[in-house]
Amino acid sequence: MTGVAIAVDSRCPIRCEHCYFSCGPKSQDRLSDDAVARIVDECITRDDIDSVSFTGGEALLRKPLVLSMIAKATSGGLHTTLVTNGFWGVSDRLAKTYLADMKSSGLSRLTISYDYFHQKYVASRKIITILAANREFGIPCSINMAVTKSEDGLNLIKELDEMGFNVPVTRFPVVPVGQASSLPGNELFRHSAEDDKSLRCPSFELLYHFDGKVYPCCSPAIASTCLSLGSVDSLSVDEAERRLTHNQVLAYIQRVGFRDLLMECRREGLVTGDVQIVNSCDLCRMIFGDEDIARFAICYIREQVQSGDSAPIGVGRQNGFSCDA
Ligand code: SF4
Ligand code: SF4
Repeated sequence: MTGVAIAVDSRCPIRCEHCYFSCGPKSQDRLSDDAVARIVDECITRDDIDSVSFTGGEALLRKPLVLSMIAKATSGGLHTTLVTNGFWGVSDRLAKTYLADMKSSGLSRLTISYDYFHQKYVASRKIITILAANREFGIPCSINMAVTKSEDGLNLIKELDEMGFNVPVTRFPVVPVGQASSLPGNELFRHSAEDDKSLRCPSFELLYHFDGKVYPCCSPAIASTCLSLGSVDSLSVDEAERRLTHNQVLAYIQRVGFRDLLMECRREGLVTGDVQIVNSCDLCRMIFGDEDIARFAICYIREQVQSGDSAPIGVGRQNGFSCDA
């Protein structure tokens, strides 16, 4: 394990129509200052954690907290990432104020969410203002871009003009979670699960979420599943990491994958017809976000592990797995 993410607050000054966590100005879920400080402190003490990222909602609505936590993590030897929608790029002056504060806190990387959905509220010129102002500070910057079939983001990259040079852009398909589940299905990049030979969980990273739970990954789909490791209030980073590395279900979906599981669900009649998915996380959401399917899946995985049919899953104690979706 190398990274821990902290989603500090569900509030956001905007309300994107694809928001996975349905965030907005009136959202109320949040992690307390003490909880965030405790998580950062615990990350610093672990040799195997080298980075902490801060996200939301809009993490910069808690700017004093987030910047002080970035400073703390930095002085503790960790790399830090801050994810923002760039709402503060309203003027060169304000952008420079924010960037100067980030720079002096020691921020390692600034990630800006910029795509068709965000751009309706945070115009391209604000992102350009931030990128231009950042020439003075040199904070490594990247862009995360959620895309659909008709809004592939290429025009937005063009709009950045020369400010888009040297800024890595990660484009990823929208998954139908939260607000995004209301988007037209034919707009999503979906394919038949049967045709997908690589149906495995891609990666784990502890996520301390403003909904009060700790999750094993940062996928937008994860908060719609029962795959939580426990509650933020009671789960130390040490214990969360132990649960993550000893959880048979998680180990199975990463090492063996979803193919056999999907086939068994089909045999049981829990899944019918052609299952269209965006990616493995979307399938994970379908399985572990449905109480009946999740129960069956957990039993099936435990049987496989106990029967030895899934030899690579010879991990330790089964624990920390809740099915409270
Ligand atoms: S997608 Fe990001 S910027 Fe948009 S409403 Fe959600 S948290 Fe806010
Ligand atoms: S497959 Fe499930 S557990 Fe793995 S990264 Fe995706 S949502 Fe997370």
